[in-house]
Amino acid sequence: MNLEDLPIRDDLRGRKPYGAPQLEVPVQLNTNENPYPPSKALVDDLAEEIRRDAAGLNRYPDRDALALRADLAGYLGHGLTTEQLWAANGSNEVLQQILQAFGGHGRTALGFEPSYSMHPIITTGTNTEWVSGAREDDFSLDADKAVAAVEEHRPDIVFLTSPNNPTGTALPLETISRVVEAAPGMVVVDEAYAEFARSGTPSALTLLPAHPRLIVTRTMSKAFAMAGTRLGYLAAHPAVVEAMLLVRLPYHLSTVTQATARVALRHRAELLGTVDALRQERDDTVAWLRALGLTVADSDANFVLFGRFENRRTIWEGLLERGVLIREVGPPEWLRVSIGTGEEMSAFRAALEGVL
Ligand code: PMP
Repeated sequence: MNLEDLPIRDDLRGRKPYGAPQLEVPVQLNTNENPYPPSKALVDDLAEEIRRDAAGLNRYPDRDALALRADLAGYLGHGLTTEQLWAANGSNEVLQQILQAFGGHGRTALGFEPSYSMHPIITTGTNTEWVSGAREDDFSLDADKAVAAVEEHRPDIVFLTSPNNPTGTALPLETISRVVEAAPGMVVVDEAYAEFARSGTPSALTLLPAHPRLIVTRTMSKAFAMAGTRLGYLAAHPAVVEAMLLVRLPYHLSTVTQATARVALRHRAELLGTVDALRQERDDTVAWLRALGLTVADSDANFVLFGRFENRRTIWEGLLERGVLIREVGPPEWLRVSIGTGEEMSAFRAALEGVL
């Protein structure tokens, strides 16, 4: 028997699972992780914490993750409180819960592409209709056109990704407020890469007090260097968090996940201490690629989209042959490289010179 013989949902027939290739390659620059592993001090603190919690693993975790949510509120600042924070297994799960609560059959979600491809997947996976809006040639978002798209489609949910994946483009607050003011429903600003933004790029968190239908999502997978922990979160009006409680599975966040995330937040000075170096490495990478004569999108994230290649597959394969894994993603003529350590970026530069 194979998959097609099962009575699977019609809309899932013929689909391929989402995901970048997980290959054992010396230089992995394909999933926008932070390349710096935790220090021994952090690992020891974490191991000790988990050892203590292990004695109570016969019991379910704190279903509402109150201590963790309080810590996340403290980390974000902006006067946010526990009641305004919600957490789940990666921001992907947070996004899915948002769609479960505010999307569904007969409802629509609008996003501006190219953007994070899980947005349409989570949208259609919850039986919500996906409407694709456009970005400009430089991947920025024209506020007038975005507002016009919102007015035309009247979506139940709007996705704004800032900084955007895979382009690295950050949105001005003005654009976000105009979309929120025009939107008849919820607006999700996916800020997975917020900590990498160039200075002077404010977070949509500052708009929360004025906009009860705005949701800002974040993750510990990127700047926080905790991708393996699977911890994403949102900040919003307390009523939005009440909506999340209606759709979350009971005990969705394990005791181990909650404890790990809290230890990571305690060690945030160390974990976020690599962000400045990664930003510098990103800016150097952009400059280096431009000096090669390539087209490079401005980036406020920990990755860079560059092109344009008539056949990006040959470039991607050439790099892979040289031990460097990047991502074939975004518009057809572009490739995306995540920012690694200085050593990894040297390897990337050497490999790309070899391929070109
Ligand atoms: N949003 C964006 C824009 C992303 O790029 C990613 C990860 N690639 C996520 C959300 C999800 O990350 P996670 O589930 O690890 O928090």
